Amino acid sequence: MSIKRLGIMGGVFDPIHCGHLFTAEEARIEFKLDKVIFVPCRQPAHKRENDISDPEDRYLVTVLATSNNQFFKVSKVELNRPGPSYSIDTVKEFLKKYHHGVKIFFITGADAFLEVDSWYKSEELIKLCQFVAATRPGYDLNKLDKKFKKNIKIMEIPALSISSTDIRRRVREGKSIKYLLPQEVEEYIYKKGLYRKM
Ligand code: ATP
Ligand code: MG
Repeated sequence: MSIKRLGIMGGVFDPIHCGHLFTAEEARIEFKLDKVIFVPCRQPAHKRENDISDPEDRYLVTVLATSNNQFFKVSKVELNRPGPSYSIDTVKEFLKKYHHGVKIFFITGADAFLEVDSWYKSEELIKLCQFVAATRPGYDLNKLDKKFKKNIKIMEIPALSISSTDIRRRVREGKSIKYLLPQEVEEYIYKKGLYRKM
């Protein structure tokens, strides 16, 4: 099938959870996307490398979580690219891969989008793709700078106040994470002993 409308869901995915999956699926349906590619980042521009889990673990949980959705794929482009992960490089890479015959929808949560001003080459990035910002509890998209507001599509989703930070904390404190993320991911976390201390 030829891909005309492509969703990109970037993230640290440390670990991936139902908030990410639900947001991606909702965007896929609302914007009639042919495919959504999850792109785990190598080194988030805003976090130190040693604050996050091994890239291979983050990649594998993302694969485990997305394998039962035929429209979801996972890409290693950012993991394979040295240095900090800039979304603009990723978007350009996918445009090239599809010979510019594709419209890219860059999916983020409200928190990520509120920081877009500080992203590398954000004004160029916003011209290359359609931004989709999903509502997320605690983050008000009305605060957004006007120059960005007119270029994004805001997607209202049922409030899911699930975060990777909270999941890591729950594991560390011995609390349950069942139903916050897919079972395969939960099993992987326990098998590999992730997040026990941090
Ligand atoms: P952390 O707590 O470590 O920052 P996170 O839960 O925010 O993790 P990220 O990997 O940082 O997850 O997020 C990747 C993308 O998914 C971001 O665009 C973020 O806004 C979005 N996202 C994460 N959780 C949710 C959620 N519950 N609802 C909507 N969007 C979300
Ligand atoms: Mg985050």
